[in-house]
Amino acid sequence: MPDRTPYVAANWKMHKTVAEAAEFVDALLPQIAATQSDVVICPPFTALGAVVERRYGTAVKVAAQNMHEEGSGAFTGEVSASMLVELGVEAVVLGHSERRQLFGESDEGLARKVAAALAAGLEPILCVGESEEARDAGQTDAVLEHQLEADLAEVNADDFGRLVIAYEPIWAIGTGRTATPEQAQETIAFIRDALRMRGGAGETVRILYGGSVKPGNAAELMAQPDIDGALVGGASLDPADFAAIVKAT
Ligand code: PEP
Repeated sequence: MPDRTPYVAANWKMHKTVAEAAEFVDALLPQIAATQSDVVICPPFTALGAVVERRYGTAVKVAAQNMHEEGSGAFTGEVSASMLVELGVEAVVLGHSERRQLFGESDEGLARKVAAALAAGLEPILCVGESEEARDAGQTDAVLEHQLEADLAEVNADDFGRLVIAYEPIWAIGTGRTATPEQAQETIAFIRDALRMRGGAGETVRILYGGSVKPGNAAELMAQPDIDGALVGGASLDPADFAAIVKAT
């Protein structure tokens, strides 16, 4: 059995002010003091600094929810990888389905972002996942294969072990509808195989499940052999709920 440290990330989306973020971290830390898992908080840009400061001396890591692929330039409203690194941020969520659907994030742009994040020393948390229509049409594997191929086009297979992949079926995000543990396991095993076929470190890359993970369903999902953790949206806004999910890993 490969040694993959469990990984749990809190994707706050556009929630929490600086004061609320600090309050959350102060409430969370004592509840997860004994965990052996990697715990990552992904606040909005404005609260990154506060979370970085509050978690000093703990094993909690901080991730941004997006970044631009260029180092600097005339890109109004954007933030670069080096700006995140300077703040003390260690990881970045890339290709979340909300960014793909609502903000026109393309696979080509994502390929450049993943490469830029790695070059800057950030750990990319690359999100992939199929729509409900694609699943119903039996296209899940083809969609995932295409996303992995396109989004990792600029990454050397030797570097796959530096990535975290989050499998997030779009139909399960924020809907209360969770993939069954069997569905999630089967699809994540497929992703691991697809990475292996591309010459990468399929055995060592952490692959998370995301989509309506809650304290009540986390343990069953995490018990699956290929599921290495969770990317949690709604249930990560409450420190007790998020701590319960961390403890389930
Ligand atoms: C997410 O935003 O990545 C997510 C999985 O959200 P939720 O847990 O609310 O479904």
